[in-house]
Amino acid sequence: MIPRIDDSIEESSWKKILSSAIKSPLELLQRLELPENLLLSGEVIDAEFAQRVPEPFLNRIKKGDINDPLLKQVLPVAKEREQHQNYIDDPLQESDSNPIPGVLHKYKSRALLITHPACPIHCRYCFRRHFPYGENNPGQARRDAALAYIRQDTQLNEVILSGGDPLTLDDPHLQSLFDQISGIPHIKRIRLHSRFPVVIPQRITETLIRTLQQSPLKTVLVLHINHPQEIDQQVANALQRLQHNNITLLNQSVLLHGINDDATILKHLSEKLFDIGVLPYYLHLPDAVAGTAHFDVSKARAIALMRELQAELPGFLVPKLVKENPGEHAKTTIFGG
Ligand SMILES: *Cc1c(COP(=O)(O)O)cnc(C)c1O
Ligand code: SF4
Repeated sequence: MIPRIDDSIEESSWKKILSSAIKSPLELLQRLELPENLLLSGEVIDAEFAQRVPEPFLNRIKKGDINDPLLKQVLPVAKEREQHQNYIDDPLQESDSNPIPGVLHKYKSRALLITHPACPIHCRYCFRRHFPYGENNPGQARRDAALAYIRQDTQLNEVILSGGDPLTLDDPHLQSLFDQISGIPHIKRIRLHSRFPVVIPQRITETLIRTLQQSPLKTVLVLHINHPQEIDQQVANALQRLQHNNITLLNQSVLLHGINDDATILKHLSEKLFDIGVLPYYLHLPDAVAGTAHFDVSKARAIALMRELQAELPGFLVPKLVKENPGEHAKTTIFGG
C-alpha cells in the first residue's frame, strides 16, 4: 500500500521551500560555483526587484555555466539598469483595465483576479515587475468587492486566477475562493495561471488536486515553462497527477533572447510538454517593460522561428505567437491560429 501523505505535512513542505528560496545573488553564485567577482565587477547586481530562486529550480541549473538558460531567467544583471527608449513600467496600460483593486478586466468574457501578489520565483523579464501590487493586495474586503464585480457582469463566463501567482494562496483559502466563484451562475470555467507546478512541484498537494477536481466548474491550469530543461521527473510526476484528475493543462512561454530563441529548443519544449500531458498555448513576444530590453527578440526573427517550428511539428504542438497590444479586444496573433 502506498502510504498517504498527510495534508498538513505536504502544505508545510512547499511553504518551507518557498520561504527558503535564495534571495542573495552572492549565495546563488556560490551555490552554482560561479565567480563571486561577477558581483564586484558590477555585472551581477542586487536589484530592486529582488532575486528569488527556490531550491527545486536551482537544482536544474547547470553548475559553472553563466549562460545556463534557467540561470539567465533569474540572475539579476547590470543590463536591467540600462535605460531604453520606449521601454516603460506599464507598456500594456494595465492600469486602464484595473476597474477595482484586485481585478484586471480587458477582455469581454473573462476577468483576471489578482489572487496573490507573490510569486515562487522572480523572472527577470517579468512584465508585471512594476505592477502596483500594494494597491491591489487582496484583503478579504477587497476579495469580496472583486467577486461582487464579477457577479454583476453577466457577460463574463470565465475567471482567471492570476497574480503574482494564485498558488501562493494556501489550500484552505483557495478552496474557499473556488466555492465562492462556483456560486456565480454565469461562470463556467476557472483558469489558473501559475509557475508553481514547474518551479516548486511540491505545491501540487493532494488537497489542491481535490479542490481543482471536485469543482463543479471546468478547471484549466496554464503553466509557464520557457525551456525544456525546466522539466524534470518531479515536475513530470506532479503534472501527471493533475492530468489524471481531468485538469486541462496548457503552457505559455515568453520568447527570450539567449534563452529559448532557437527552433531546436522550442521544438524540444513542445515535444517534452506533450510527453507529460501539456499542450502549448501561447508564445509571447516580450513586452517593452523597463529593465528587460536585453531579452528582446524581433518580430521578424520570431516569425522565422515559427516557420521552422511549423515545418517540423504537428499543428497542435505549435504555440500561437502573440503580442499584447493595449486597447485590443484580445491578444494579437502574429503567427498561427
Ligand atoms: C492574457 C489575458 C487574458 C487571457 O487571454 P486569453 O487569450 O483568453 O488567454 C485575460 N485577461 C487579461 C487581463 C490578460 O492579460
Ligand atoms: S512568475 Fe510570472 S508574474 Fe511572477 S515573476 Fe515570473 S513572470 Fe512575473
